[in-house]
Amino acid sequence: MRAICLVGIGKIAVDQHIPAIASPDWMLAATVSRAGAVDGVPAYADFARMLAERPDIDTVSLCLPPVPRYDYAAAAIAAGRHVMLEKPPGATLAEVQALARMAQDAGVTLYTTWHSRMAKGVAPAKAWLADKIVTAAHITWKEDVRRWHPGQDWVFAPGGMGVFDPGSNALSIMTEILPQPVHLRHADLYFPANRDTPIAAELTWTGNVTGSFDWRQTGPQSWDIVVQTDNGTLALHDGGARLVIDGKDVESGADREYPALYDRMAELVKTAASEVDITPMIHVADALTLGKRHVVDAFDF
Ligand code: NAP
Repeated sequence: MRAICLVGIGKIAVDQHIPAIASPDWMLAATVSRAGAVDGVPAYADFARMLAERPDIDTVSLCLPPVPRYDYAAAAIAAGRHVMLEKPPGATLAEVQALARMAQDAGVTLYTTWHSRMAKGVAPAKAWLADKIVTAAHITWKEDVRRWHPGQDWVFAPGGMGVFDPGSNALSIMTEILPQPVHLRHADLYFPANRDTPIAAELTWTGNVTGSFDWRQTGPQSWDIVVQTDNGTLALHDGGARLVIDGKDVESGADREYPALYDRMAELVKTAASEVDITPMIHVADALTLGKRHVVDAFDF
């Protein structure tokens, strides 16, 4: 069992990380947060102090939003700790590459997690698509920002990525399952009049691959990817949890996205190996580079 420190005790830490850490591999030995804490676990408000006072903790999991996360990751690596990053792994591509170099030089693990890739339908979808020719694909990723990011103004601040914060989950699946890589050809981005990041986006990639992303969807939420091939149609629903091939459900076991991430981190730290993948973020960066800006109604939580 390894001692781990969780940093940023906000929505995702409480919803997913704390339950997932309760496994035979890990012991939650400390938290760092300006406000949050976990019953019975030593709570620090200052990250440098935790690093200095807790040499027993060799692994740090960072659940902060992307913009503040880099400084924490760099400090943790400099202090010889293994680091696990929530998705998206950084505010910029270059800072993630910098962290990867730092981790390599320090001989510690850096793991850029993409939780949606652990959804139970994703591995069998990838296996089924491996020998197919994809003729078209469409992503529909539409959810209610007020439900999943209540009051979180950082998602609309520079670096928050707007609708690409959840959209990067779809992109992490797309880049995992498609047998051939695609690149972006066109993007329409819809910015609320009072915000710095898009609330919706329509993207077109090579290979007849398209995506509709929207954060204004109330009621039922849509997290679907449909892939047409030369030999049948595959659909992932519910964020990758449900796999349907040619209209028939494919059973693929229990859903355990975050426990699987912590299992993988436990494997990586054994050999101080890193797993760093910025491919989903490249599509976000390309959309923000190439995108046509449309201004839509102001948004307030
Ligand atoms: P959140 O609740 O707004 O923030 C998480 C924590 O980050 C909070 O405890 C907050 O700390 C800390 N924090 C925020 N801004 C900070 C700053 N400038 N400096 C230092 N600490 C700061 O966000 P979240 O929804 O958990 O999302 C965090 C990450 O998880 C994001 O990258 C997101 O994409 C990912 N994620 C979120 C969801 C979801 O459903 N919300 C799902 C999967 C992944 P204090 O307690 O110290 O104020």
